[in-house]
Amino acid sequence: MEQTLILIKPDGVKKHLIGEIIKRFESNGLDIRAIKLVRINRSQAEGFYQVHKEQPFFEELVQFMTSGPIIACVLEGERAITRVRQIMGTTDPKKAEKGTIRNEFADSIRYNIIHGSDSKASADYEIPNFFNRLEIIGIQAG
Ligand code: UDP
Ligand code: MG
Repeated sequence: MEQTLILIKPDGVKKHLIGEIIKRFESNGLDIRAIKLVRINRSQAEGFYQVHKEQPFFEELVQFMTSGPIIACVLEGERAITRVRQIMGTTDPKKAEKGTIRNEFADSIRYNIIHGSDSKASADYEIPNFFNRLEIIGIQAG
């Protein structure tokens, strides 16, 4: 079993796509282990995207990610990281496969609706940015 972090970015929340996006992951058989609506500040956005801090788009990415509320969600399943990335589509919506979230809903390579961890190492770094251990609910809990 693998866990991954998804974020529905400010553009996805503004476009009222929360239900649509969560439905796609649930329909694919992925399980929600944690979920919340949050608004992150500059230092949280910079920390989350620190791997991109030398990129020319970094500043505008941070501004975008702090421009409104986002949904953070931990999804779990076999090969969850790869499955989520396939359902999302590639970064640039113009290149994303038909039927993917980014192909159907994203406006541009920046305003692309959704984030998903790209590896196990990324997921392990990203999940604790939003959830502590007690907030991630196991199947057996409760
Ligand atoms: N991004 C951008 N300009 C670019 C490339 C990426 O603004 O030229 C933004 C976009 O929102 C993207 C995020 O930076 O989702 C992180 O980039 P990454 O290459 O990690 O893409 P992802 O893993 O989200 O597909
Ligand atoms: Mg990435």
